[in-house]
Amino acid sequence: MKVSLTIPFYNEEQQIPITLRTLKPILEATGMDYELILVDDGSSDKTWEVIRQASADDSRVIGLHFSRNFGKEAAICAGLDRASGDAVILMDGDLQHPPEHIPEMLAKWQEGFDIIEGVKSTRGKESFSSRLNAQVFYGLFRVFSGYDLRNASDFKLLDRKVVDHWRSLGEHDTFFRGLSAWLGFKRATFSFEVAARQTGGSKWSIYHLAKLSINAITGFSAMPLQFVTFLGMILLAGSLIIAIQTLVNWFSGHAASGFTTVILLQLLIGGSIMLSLGLIGIYLARIFTEVKGRPRYIISDHTESSAQTELIDDNDTRA
Ligand code: UDP
Ligand code: MG
Repeated sequence: MKVSLTIPFYNEEQQIPITLRTLKPILEATGMDYELILVDDGSSDKTWEVIRQASADDSRVIGLHFSRNFGKEAAICAGLDRASGDAVILMDGDLQHPPEHIPEMLAKWQEGFDIIEGVKSTRGKESFSSRLNAQVFYGLFRVFSGYDLRNASDFKLLDRKVVDHWRSLGEHDTFFRGLSAWLGFKRATFSFEVAARQTGGSKWSIYHLAKLSINAITGFSAMPLQFVTFLGMILLAGSLIIAIQTLVNWFSGHAASGFTTVILLQLLIGGSIMLSLGLIGIYLARIFTEVKGRPRYIISDHTESSAQTELIDDNDTRA
């Protein structure tokens, strides 16, 4: 039995040695064969040099280097594509997902569960605004998609068969937390406390979080589209009231001649065009991204033998 750990790193040069030092004794103690897949998400600091060194020191450490910053979702995809273990554990590189829970995850896996997910019992030290953002996002996500992901995390163990099914999902814009819920399978949870970061700060910008939120919601639900239709209906109903008023004015002789028809047409055409454009626009944007079929990430460097290079090139072309 072999277990793969996949960890994304973005500008974490100082954190990596600390993470590896903490992780390795825990993995040794399980007595299981393991591999560590460290994904450098296009860092601008020395992250890649540090990973390469770690790989040179220990053959169980595999490094993948992205050609630019593709985001944590892409790094997760790369790790899952590369992992060869019978189970794959995904965790953050900053030890905010405490590795002390790994033996517990493995025990549940051996009991026969296919997905073992970490649930945050506390969200750790977090600013008021990021707590609020998270609440708004998960609230909207629940309304639109029907999945309740409050306190869910990316700290998960997936059985090999789950990973294989994950890899068959074709969409370009993934939302790991949502998609792994969508996959189903026999699931178990464990709760963990989010530890404080030892070095650096959160690597998420508001822009990236907003993008992920929009992708997550539009990828899981067509309800926003219906909302646009609903908005259009309200607009048309409003138009009708103004139309009646305009007609009354006209019949009672208060309106400038010819103006009535102009107002009516303006309201009707304007409302319908906005409604249609909104609908088409959202559909189009998503189809556009998917149809381009670009890879989710590009690996520009890695730390393996040539036989494994082919495997990686293969994965690169997956849409
Ligand atoms: N990360 C990444 N690419 C990014 C942003 C973050 O690979 O564009 C990694 C980061 O190095 C860390 C993990 O994702 O290992 C979680 O990121 P972070 O701690 O910044 O997120 P938070 O804990 O604030 O949710
Ligand atoms: Mg973190």
